[in-house]
Amino acid sequence: MFNVKREKCYHCNKTVYAMEKLSCENKVFHKRCLRCKQCNKLLSTGNYKYIEGKFYCGPHFKQIFLSIGHYSAFSDEKSKQKKVEKKVEEKKEEVKQEEVKQEEEKQEEVKQEEEKQEEEKQEEEKQEEEKQEEEQEEVQQEEN
Ligand SMILES: [Zn+2]
Ligand SMILES: [Zn+2]
Repeated sequence: MFNVKREKCYHCNKTVYAMEKLSCENKVFHKRCLRCKQCNKLLSTGNYKYIEGKFYCGPHFKQIFLSIGHYSAFSDEKSKQKKVEKKVEEKKEEVKQEEVKQEEEKQEEVKQEEEKQEEEKQEEEKQEEEKQEEEQEEVQQEEN
């Protein structure tokens, strides 16, 4: 008489009657009990994600398995992307260092140029002084 197998909802553990029954992943649910473990959003048999006995909506499935790196397809994709990012970062660093080096070389050139100009200027001043001295001497000689 009571031989009918009473199916219990995987989510709330209450009896599920045929009318409200929903089954997926070999589990039985009330239609209203197939929910995302994370956000409790109602899922349908067409849009749920199932892993390790838990059901998720698409976004949370992705979020959770990206964060724990459990879902290899996602984590592979992520580490690949990270590698690329790292390479780009390294390349940027290289370019930056090259720029710094060039900038330093440029500054060194400018400095040398300035020093040279300074020397020339001093040389000129010296010549100017000598000239003035000569002139003074001439004047003195004339006075004599
Ligand atoms: Zn239920
Ligand atoms: Zn969710």
